[in-house]
Amino acid sequence: MQGLLKFAVAGLLALCAPAFAAIACATTAFAMTGDRAEFVKLADDVYAYVGKKNDANAMVIVTSQGVVLVDTGNNQPDTRDIAAKIRSVTDQPVRWIVVTQYHGDHFGGSPYFLPGATLIVHDRVAKELNAMKPHQVKAWRKRFPEREQALAGLAPKDMMMNIPDRMTLNLGGKRIELIYIDDAYNIGDLAVWLSDSGVMHGSFAAYKDRHPDIRPDYSHGTTVTMLKQLEALIALKPRVVVPSHGPLSDVKDLTNMVDYLMLGRQKVRVMMQKGLPLPEIIKQFHMNEYAGWDRTSHFDWMAETIHRELQGLGPIVVKIIERDTKGVITKITEEGRYFTIDAGGGKELRLRVASDSNIEGVPDRTHFKVGQKIVANYEEPQGFNPALGYDVIEVTVQP
Ligand SMILES: [Zn+2]
Repeated sequence: MQGLLKFAVAGLLALCAPAFAAIACATTAFAMTGDRAEFVKLADDVYAYVGKKNDANAMVIVTSQGVVLVDTGNNQPDTRDIAAKIRSVTDQPVRWIVVTQYHGDHFGGSPYFLPGATLIVHDRVAKELNAMKPHQVKAWRKRFPEREQALAGLAPKDMMMNIPDRMTLNLGGKRIELIYIDDAYNIGDLAVWLSDSGVMHGSFAAYKDRHPDIRPDYSHGTTVTMLKQLEALIALKPRVVVPSHGPLSDVKDLTNMVDYLMLGRQKVRVMMQKGLPLPEIIKQFHMNEYAGWDRTSHFDWMAETIHRELQGLGPIVVKIIERDTKGVITKITEEGRYFTIDAGGGKELRLRVASDSNIEGVPDRTHFKVGQKIVANYEEPQGFNPALGYDVIEVTVQP
């Protein structure tokens, strides 16, 4: 908390910097959701699961024909918690799962509800799910040990319905509209609109009090596509918006995000017109006018992404090489999310367990121990800082 307080003060001071004095004073309230997830009633039969500390949110729509679950929880405990919260308000089973974004923190809880429910995804996500590699399917089945047996032989594509750009679910008198707004890079992006109650899941573009995650590889969209999405969502005038992360918001916050993105683009444009090179633009870029917003660590990425967009460049494409390794675990951090091995001859290698890494020999990453012998293959992106840890494809702990 101390660090956050200091940050807020610094942000307030920067707010009055003359260069951008015309910008309205944004909220100084802390932008993080609480230490515990909340289950909030938004309208009759409509609930938001607001993730703790800005972890991914979900939305629940109860109908007489079953529950529609929008996104599936940031991690396994959250997914189980969502299921328990649903059971506290209805006996109806989860029959449809709408995936708003094809990222692990939105899609990863899906095996908990399958089979028995249908995954609803955009066409482009369906293409990815159809192309899942064997290690990814294995890791997906094993995400919840209690579901592994029920999912034997199954993959997400076996319980999937895909939509091109619009679809309406009419269930038990409720109208649930799914809206896709084209994004060439960040695939998925289904917004969910309940016109009867004015409630919306705003998908990826609906940030509140959080600096967007846009990155130079465009894996989290671009400012141009976010603006396009926001324009379409604002036109519907939602009363309540469930963003993909962070506190509940409304149409004002969507408009605020448009102003934010326009300001960010303008800042980079001005620096480019002055002839500043990219490293200097990255160094000078900030969005401190938005004091107290979460994820100031995104400034560098944002500056570089906008710099590419303004030149009409596509995403940075990083070449990835698959490598094999074996060795002994010498260090473990974050409950096994990262581990270091001695790969022989004193060569240290740091590896990261991603949500689709397949683990064999132990039930999950929390069972790694110093001294265990492992064999693994991993992805080495070109020009990547090895200290950050390479993503594991498959790791086997040897007996
Ligand atoms: Zn997310």
